[in-house]
Amino acid sequence: MSFQNYIAANGELLQYIAFFGALLLMGGIEALAPARDAPARKRRWPVNGGLTVVNILALGALPVTAVGAAAWAASQNFGLMNQGELPWWALLVAGFAGRSLISYVVHAAMHKVPVLWRVHRVHHLDTAMDITTTVRFHPLEFVIQVVPGVAVIALLGIPVWVVMAYEIIDAFTAVATHSNLRLPARIERVVRWVLVTPDVHRIHHSARQAETDSNYGALFTVWDRLFGTFVGEPRGGHSGMTLGLEHWREAQRAQGFGWLLISPVLNPPPSRAPAGAAEAV
Ligand SMILES: [Zn+2]
Repeated sequence: MSFQNYIAANGELLQYIAFFGALLLMGGIEALAPARDAPARKRRWPVNGGLTVVNILALGALPVTAVGAAAWAASQNFGLMNQGELPWWALLVAGFAGRSLISYVVHAAMHKVPVLWRVHRVHHLDTAMDITTTVRFHPLEFVIQVVPGVAVIALLGIPVWVVMAYEIIDAFTAVATHSNLRLPARIERVVRWVLVTPDVHRIHHSARQAETDSNYGALFTVWDRLFGTFVGEPRGGHSGMTLGLEHWREAQRAQGFGWLLISPVLNPPPSRAPAGAAEAV
């Protein structure tokens, strides 16, 4: 069996292993050697855990998946990459480029389009970061990501094994980049040229809006560098920077499970709250 067939046949299992393996590994490291002061868990973990359960149910209810779109395109000879015989490495590079670019574009759109920001801000309302931040999303975020994602995968005709390989690496990286840990400085300097590191993604969770609206990449830093949204260091330094959303940090209600679930439709929705709005929520 070729490695392409192996990944296609076992991708789902490998994805679970990558995700739960990363949770155990990164959870252990951040408990033993946290990058910043250990974040408060008592209030955050039940909320982040609750959202995880809701998200697992939502994910199971989605009628389309990235892999399903790839399989459909292959069966119909649909999409660019299904039109000729490309070598495996070209499929891998082109597929990863297309898949990571759409992820970058959708993430940037969620910050810039007010109605999408209402959904995505649930992720940014976490006032600390650790492995549980990885899965703290509003369930509607899957819908926002899946629709353009499956369209691009089908149009490009990205092979199933390439989509699977991306999802496996993405599952591991998502946990790693939300973890409360830091790579040794020499390794960090090299890795961040290509890949998103915990330091790079922590800047995206900064409460300073100029930093919140940066580093949109989930796996590669290339698109942020290309489109000018890469920020290398937070203004307050990694130990001193404030996480969360500036005008919402003091609003206790904005940290509750029920509030977060209905928050996209709450009125008034201070998507970019003016100063003093925290008292109003
Ligand atoms: Zn974001």
